[in-house]
Amino acid sequence: MSMGFIFGPVPSRRLGLSLGINVIPFKTCSFNCVYCEVGKTTDLIIERKSFFDIGAIKDEFVKTVERVGKIDFVTFSGSGEPTLNSDLGKLIEFVKSFKKYKVAILTNSSLMYRDDVKDELIMCDVVVPSLDSALESSFKKINMPYKDLKIEKIIEGLTDFSNRFQGEIWLEILFVKGINDTKEDLDALCNAIKLIKPTRVQIGTVDRPPAYTTAKKIDNKEMMDIYTYMSSKIGVVDIIGSFNKENDAFYEDVERSIIKMINIRPCSKDELKETFNVDDKKIDDILTKLFDESKAYIQNFEGKTFIVGNRASASR
Ligand code: SF4
Repeated sequence: MSMGFIFGPVPSRRLGLSLGINVIPFKTCSFNCVYCEVGKTTDLIIERKSFFDIGAIKDEFVKTVERVGKIDFVTFSGSGEPTLNSDLGKLIEFVKSFKKYKVAILTNSSLMYRDDVKDELIMCDVVVPSLDSALESSFKKINMPYKDLKIEKIIEGLTDFSNRFQGEIWLEILFVKGINDTKEDLDALCNAIKLIKPTRVQIGTVDRPPAYTTAKKIDNKEMMDIYTYMSSKIGVVDIIGSFNKENDAFYEDVERSIIKMINIRPCSKDELKETFNVDDKKIDDILTKLFDESKAYIQNFEGKTFIVGNRASASR
């Protein structure tokens, strides 16, 4: 009989066919995020523990993989923080010993300052850490962490881990209206990202009923502004959740966002195309319009062509 440690496989846009392993009791977490879709944290802890009989988890895993066949990724996640389980390293090793599964972990990053956690996560292929704020004040508000946790230490831990890690880091940021969406927050996050150097950065906002009603969704227009601002500072950012590049709402504001972006720094046409995920025709149409309206012009530098904004036109 299944004990409920293993779930899926579920098709995931990013991971393919992913089999989940939940190694944490329900809502045992080092954070109590305002936006948590699982609910309020009932056990706010920072100490790592062996919560379950590791043999039972292994048995259920073996039985499930025999039954389901093909799996692309085995993902440690669940309704709490998986790195709080002190058996995590042994479990990752166990999954890796099959030599046919890639391993991912979703973590809130809270224990990334610990050497044992870093050593265990090094065995993964993909680490998906959250970092919602790089400022202590908004970190406290959005994640309501266990009292001893400091965001500076977490960022240091993530940076150190990234320097040693061979796999991919997909950093996730969840924005909540009025909490971590100020310019100061975005600048601090961009600075942290420059240190951490993740393979990709994924941003989203509140898409499902949150643990606290104070967690408000950011509207599409503001998400687009955040996306544009961050992309201009750190390179291409992905938008995840209901607000994504396939949405019509995204395209409505592309022109306005391109103006903002080229007013922050000159961009090549390819860069704009990639950032906004538009085809040649769309980018040509937009740029022709901007040239006609004197909102953009071309500048050549060292053999490369850049689109530059006319800052004066943006202030209107
Ligand atoms: S870290 Fe994850 S599980 Fe914990 S409170 Fe935040 S969203 Fe919920």
